[in-house]
This record gives sequence, structure tokens and C-alpha cells, in this order.
Amino acid sequence: MSVEQAPVQRADFDQVMVPNYAPAAFIPVRGAGSRVWDQSGRELIDFAGGIAVNVLGHAHPALVGALTEQANKLWHVSNVFTNEPALRLAHKLVDATFAERAFFCNSGAEANEAAFKLARRVAHDRFGPEKHEIIATVNSFHGRTLFTVSVGGQPKYSDGFGPKITGISHVPYNDLEALKAQISDKTCAVVIEPIQGESGVVPADVAYLQGARELCDKHNALLIFDEVQTGVGRTGELFAYMHYGVTPDILSSAKSLGGGFPIGAMLTTEALAKHLTVGTHGTTYGGNPLACAVANAVMDVVNTPEVLEGVKAKHQKFKARLEQIGEKYGLFTQVRGIGLLIGCVLSDAWKGKAKDVFNAAEKEGLMVLQAGPDVVRFAPSLVVEDADIDEGLDRFERAAATLTQA
Ligand SMILES: *Cc1c(COP(=O)(O)O)cnc(C)c1O
Repeated sequence: MSVEQAPVQRADFDQVMVPNYAPAAFIPVRGAGSRVWDQSGRELIDFAGGIAVNVLGHAHPALVGALTEQANKLWHVSNVFTNEPALRLAHKLVDATFAERAFFCNSGAEANEAAFKLARRVAHDRFGPEKHEIIATVNSFHGRTLFTVSVGGQPKYSDGFGPKITGISHVPYNDLEALKAQISDKTCAVVIEPIQGESGVVPADVAYLQGARELCDKHNALLIFDEVQTGVGRTGELFAYMHYGVTPDILSSAKSLGGGFPIGAMLTTEALAKHLTVGTHGTTYGGNPLACAVANAVMDVVNTPEVLEGVKAKHQKFKARLEQIGEKYGLFTQVRGIGLLIGCVLSDAWKGKAKDVFNAAEKEGLMVLQAGPDVVRFAPSLVVEDADIDEGLDRFERAAATLTQA
């Protein structure tokens, strides 16, 4: 028996929701693979992936199966008890990475919050309160809690909320000399996104990450990689640090880890983890059985040569066609990124107009993303079918043609 639900529309958003978002005019109601349908039955191709989250598209049978199986077993017990899905997931992450310990939470911001608190705790325990400074990068994004906006390098997200967390400085990204000039024995951690996602899909240089690793070692500072956007297959490796061959001390993951179910993880070594002793940190939902059951299924599918090699092949397909479109319509000058995190840098004539490209694509039945005002971002499912890539990029080309001929 289905319960009759009151009809709702986009206009309701402005009546009942806090106005901190400006969602699109249509409401998606159903998805399958890389296709999404809205309330009117209109079909769209999804190259946005819920902001690099729906790593296996919509309604992937392995994830639906894992979620429904767990839903019939056990939803929640809190961290007063442990649970089987959480332990299995921790084993999987530890087996597949540098890490020896996992902490689970519910979002990217929480994973970073745990990472920053751990870094400060370790420094406090080993060296005393003086060593608490965190160095982050200009334009970085680490989440929206007060600590994570304070560490993030974007004043538009951190200003206007009263005093920020102190002891944080920001240096230009990919600038090793700037990091070298800033780091000192008071530095407890350096935090870097291997690819700056939100602020324009800017990949780090290999030498930059290598140099950061050396500087951290020299100053007894921890190297934190925020892999909330780059992790879980997005770059064609399980984590981007593997692509670069530079190993962090702490890694944060979320987004793709749950494939659309909220989960975050902080990964680290045993020697560091032991500083978070009983009672020092926690979260009610972290390691929730439903979330961990889904993440286990995500890991089983994503961490396979077929999927990871597929990401590299699909990257080439996107890049070649996007470069062609960019050149033909004078819309963008560069296609950058790694794997299926791709940014098209708008040409001077279209600078600041990523939103217009988003709107034009939506009119053609295509969901894309912005990464700041000057970059159009693509973060599709890692298993997006080649036919959907072709069709989606046809739609994108039609959008580019309409936009540039208007
Ligand atoms: C999305 C993102 C976050 C924040 O994740 P939430 O789940 O929104 O809290 C942090 N860091 C990076 C690099 C991200 O892309």
C-alpha cells in the first residue's frame, strides 16, 4: 500500500528551505546509470555525478543490493558497539592503502575536521602546545564547518562568522618556495588537495607534492591529503596519492566513498592514530552499518583493474572531444584534470560565465558542474557508458553552439 504524498515543486524550496542554495529549476526524481529523469519525465545525462559522489552512477545494482540487504538487518547501533560492515570496510581501506587505521564519519568536512584535530593532538602530545600551526593553500576547499572554512583558502566561505580558528596560514598552490618560506618548527600539518577541485580542477605538480613531503619530514609536520574529491577511483588510481607516488600521513575521503550514501573516512598510520585515545573524538553516526555496507560495495566494484583502467580510457575520450569543442566554438582554452575529474578553462571572452554554460547544457538535457566562475567541471560516474559519453558530449556541443551563436 502506498501512502499518498502531497505534491511539491521547485517553488516550495523558497517557502520552506533556508536560502543557502540556489537549486536548478527542475527536480530530479529518478536515476539509472548516467541518466536522470525529472518530475515531468524529461531525461538528462549526468556528467555532474552529484559533485563527484555518484561514482557508480545511479541505482547501481551492487549498491542497491548492499543497501537493501543491510536495511533488513541492522541500521544503527552507535559507537558504543562496533559493527560488521564498519570492520569490513576498515580492513578493505587498510589493505588497499598506506593506512593502518580508519576513522569513519559522515561527510568530507568531518573527515577533515578529524584530520586537523588529529594533527594538532599529535603535535601537542609530542612537542607541546607551541606546535599547532596548519599551512593550507590559497583557494583550497576543505568543507564548511568553522575549522574547515578557516583552513580552506577562500575568505568568501570563512568571513562573516566571527573569529576564525587561529594558527592557520595560506600559501599559493603549487608554489614550493612559498611553502618552504612559511613552514617552521611550529607547523603541525600541511594540508593539500592533490587536485584543487572546487576552485577550478587544478592538479598539483609531482615535484610540489614531493617537495611538500620532504619539508614536512624536515620540520616534523604531518602531510594531510584532502582526497574527498580525488579519492576512490576518480583519478584512475584508488587514491590520487598513488598516481603521484607521494604518501601522506593522514588522508581524508568522502564523496565517492559512499557512491551517494553519506560517509566520510580519515585514514592514517597506527603510530598517529594512537593519539586519539578513548573519548578524544567521536560522532554518533560515524561507521553507520548502512553507510559502511554501501561503501564496501563501492570499494569492491571500484578497486578493480577494469574500472580503474576504464577511468583512464574514458578520460582520453572526454579530453579529445572537449578540446575539439573548446577550439571550434572558442569557448575554452584548456582541458585539464586527471581521470574523470575534468575542468574546461573558459576563454577570455567567456570568463566568469561558467553558470551560463551550466544553464545552456541543462537546456540540452545535460548536467555539468562549475568549479568557480571560470571553469566548467565534469565528474561523471566512473562506469559511464561510452554511448552516454558520446550522447552527452553531443548535447554539450549543441549547448556550446547555441551559447556562442546567441
Ligand atoms: C566536497 C569537499 C569537501 C567537503 O565535503 P562535504 O561532504 O561537503 O563536507 C572537502 N574537501 C574537498 C576537497 C571537497 O571536494
